[in-house]
Amino acid sequence: MKRPIAFNHEFVEFIPEKLAERTIYVSINYATATHKCACGCGAEVVTPISPTDWKLMFDGRSVSLHPSIGNWSLKCRSHYWIKNDRISWAEDWSPERVAAFRGQKKTIRITSSSSKRKLNPLEMLWKLVTDAICK
Ligand SMILES: [Zn+2]
Repeated sequence: MKRPIAFNHEFVEFIPEKLAERTIYVSINYATATHKCACGCGAEVVTPISPTDWKLMFDGRSVSLHPSIGNWSLKCRSHYWIKNDRISWAEDWSPERVAAFRGQKKTIRITSSSSKRKLNPLEMLWKLVTDAICK
């Protein structure tokens, strides 16, 4: 799991051409927030702020964006939340990982059920008989 990253925020009229790392620029006039991808790949991520896009929350000290930012179209495919000027990484589950997890669960279930398996009546009788003979 990647560690959270502290971000800065800046309220600007125009989004600057050159973005600083780990800074989210918010233009209220243009209802847009822009930042450089938190993974460090350098890609610019533009998040329009509207009822159908992202919502910006400013609590007087820090900003948060909702919902999470999933850069699926970028090479890095990073997925994170900006909450109170911090990046918290969201899980990126690849189809392979999902499949592997399912397989793992299956294996655990099989082994636990076989170790807890009870003998059927015939096997129990046979065990009694063999125990008696062996004594
Ligand atoms: Zn990235």
